[in-house]
Parts: sequence; C-alpha cells; structure tokens
Amino acid sequence: MGMRLNLVGLAGLSGLVAAALLLGPAPQASAANQRAAVAKDARVGGDLTRTRFVADLSETVDFRAFLLSDPYRVIVDLPEVKFQMPSGVGGSGRGLVSAFRYGLFAPGKSRIVIDVVGPVLIDKAFVRAADNSQPARLVIDLVRTTPEKFEKQSARQALLRSATPNGFQASTERAEEALGRSADGNRGKPVIVLDPGHGGVDPGTISVDGRYEKDIVFEFCKILKSRLEKTGRYRILMTRNEDIFIPLDARVEFAQKEQAALLMSVHADALDVKHPLVSRKDLEEVRGASVYTLSEEASDELAQMIAARENRSDILAGVELPGGTDDDLASILIDLMHRETKNLSVSYARQLVGNLDGTIELNSRPHRFANFRVLKAQDVPSVLIELGFLSNQADERALTSDEWRSKVADTIVESISAFFAKRMVSVPG
Ligand code: ZN
Repeated sequence: MGMRLNLVGLAGLSGLVAAALLLGPAPQASAANQRAAVAKDARVGGDLTRTRFVADLSETVDFRAFLLSDPYRVIVDLPEVKFQMPSGVGGSGRGLVSAFRYGLFAPGKSRIVIDVVGPVLIDKAFVRAADNSQPARLVIDLVRTTPEKFEKQSARQALLRSATPNGFQASTERAEEALGRSADGNRGKPVIVLDPGHGGVDPGTISVDGRYEKDIVFEFCKILKSRLEKTGRYRILMTRNEDIFIPLDARVEFAQKEQAALLMSVHADALDVKHPLVSRKDLEEVRGASVYTLSEEASDELAQMIAARENRSDILAGVELPGGTDDDLASILIDLMHRETKNLSVSYARQLVGNLDGTIELNSRPHRFANFRVLKAQDVPSVLIELGFLSNQADERALTSDEWRSKVADTIVESISAFFAKRMVSVPG
C-alpha cells in the first residue's frame, strides 16, 4: 500500500490517471482466486471525441491500462483470461477505436490491444462487479487528445510501469511449458524447431471466412510434428504449444538455445486488401505456397510486403520495441550471419520447393527472399513457409482440409530427409 502512495506522489499523478493505471485488487479477485475469468463479449460505443470500450467478464479481475505510440494503441493487461468472444469481434471498431484484439500474451498474462485512430487519453478505466442485470465489466473510456498530451500521459505511465512489478508473473514451469520445452528421450538427435506463426494476442491474418492464421498454422504444425516424430530421426520442438503470443526474437533465441539443425517458421499470409498495390484481380490470382529465406534486399515487392507484415507481430501485440531502428539491427545481424547458415537455408528452401512442386499449388515465384526477423539466427538454418494466401478462397479451403495438410506434411518430411542426407555427405568424417 505504501508503495502505491509513494508512486502516486512521485509521478504527481492526477487521481484519474492513477486510477487507470494502478488499480489494486478489485473486489472478489485475489491472488488466491486463480480460476481464470472468462471474457465473453466486447463492444465499442461512442464517437470521435469520446469512445467507450467494454468487455463482459465472468468475474472481476485486476488490470492495468496504458498507452503506446507508433502506432497509437491502448494496452490492457490482465491476468490469464479465457476469451470466448463471438468470432469477428474486434475486427472493426467505432469512434476512436479502429479495431482491437485479445489473447494470451505471456504465460499467466492476457492482453487486449486496442488500436486507436489517433492520440487519445485514458479518461476512466475500471472494472465493475456483476449486478442483477449485467455481468462484470471492464470499461475503458477514451477521449481524443493532442499528440503532446498523449506523450505526457504515456511517459508517466511508462515511468510507473518500470517502477511497479507486473503482478501477473508466470511460474517458470508455465513459461517452459509454453515454449515447448519438455523432457523427452530424443537427446542426441538433430533438433528441428517448428514455429507456428503468431499466437495469443496476435491472430495473424484473418481469412475470407474469418479464420485466424494463428490457428491454421498451429493445426498444421501439430500434424507436421507428429509425422516427423514418426520417422524416429529427429527431436521436434515447437516454439509454442498453445495459443500464446511469443515475440519474434524469442522464437529465434529458442532455436539457437536448442542448437536446432533447422528452424521452420510456418505462416499463411494474405494480401492486404487496403494496400494501394493490391487489386481485386490479385486477390483471385495470387495464391499458392512460397518458401522464404533471409535476405537484406527483398526479391520482389510481394516478398517485401509479406515480410513487413510478418515483422509487425510484436507491434500488433503491444510490445514496446527497444530504441534504435529495426533496419540498423537487421543489417548488423545479417552481416554477422554465418555464410554457411545462409547457404544451408537456401539449399533447404530449394529442396523444399522441389518436393512441393507437383504436390500442391505453388506461388508463381515459389522461392523468395526478404528481411524476416524470425529468420535471423546466425547459426540455425532457417526458412519460412507461407502455406498459401488466406485472401484466396481456394487456398483457404486447401489449408483447412485434412487431405491437403496430410499431403503437405508428408512432402515436408521427405524434403527434410533429403536435406539431412545431403548434409551428412558434405560433413567430412
Ligand atoms: Zn504470418
């Protein structure tokens, strides 16, 4: 309690902002009460001056709300909450809110990211207990403001965040479990890391029929994992074993720490309908799988567009990126990347494309290069496969059919066998 008072004094907060930031335990919620609350619905009302975000909850929870810029977002951190929202919720907004997304952000910690159309202030933020007519509700009131005032409130909040422990810390065991680290009897075998893209608060692309990329690629990776395990030749790890957000760099670090012989990141992108270069005809015609390897210079515009979208994962999830531009970091890392790693990545990509060719629909240019953050391990050959375009109906049907998934998983297993067979030959002794 004393800590809280001091902080408020230190930052000179108005009562309003303090309330938005530092809500103590709400009635009925306590550390002992670990049963996850369920979020059943959410809605947005209001106009461009004042907008209210409301989420219905099965019980009250602690939370913390704060602002981030570039782009302007409102982040609401919660203890682990089960989201059982109607599909499509959050795809669009109203007033100051353009969209919102939600999901597991870290073990034991859920997050709602609210995209806003410009600078806003959190005017009020509270959780109201259920009453006769309504469930418990999380309410966030946003008002339009100037960029200067936004910066001021967001800076104060950052100061407070750095001074207060998060409160929703996960157990180490839970964290290990989320990262797919578990004891198994496969030590000594080459490690292959499968990386289902996105997860948790970052849904990835949303298909024509409202399916999430994060779910489609996760299902596929599970099938691929079991096919690879059946060969008995490899130890297969996944960067995530549930619907949880994992930062891009953490995926790379995981593969490095496990000394993986191959990292395969699995995605299913879509053309951005709002992009000025994308036409209706493109949506019908651009389809098929493509395999990407890392390159500072993108092979073409489409590759560049896809990489830029995939690299936004952390931003979409409301991660505060460290200072310094991404591009600087990118070129340093690429310089450091082992030439051998790069050659192996390209060699595997060619192998994979060769095997897929004739099995499934391939993109008109099936091997492309671009600057994907997740492919930057210096010491782990890495490829990213885009299984198809969820903006294309035929691709969406394929990607969600058992027959297609099975066929593609088997083909990937073949390509990996061939890749390792070649590597054995090239290694002296
Ligand atoms: Zn993706």
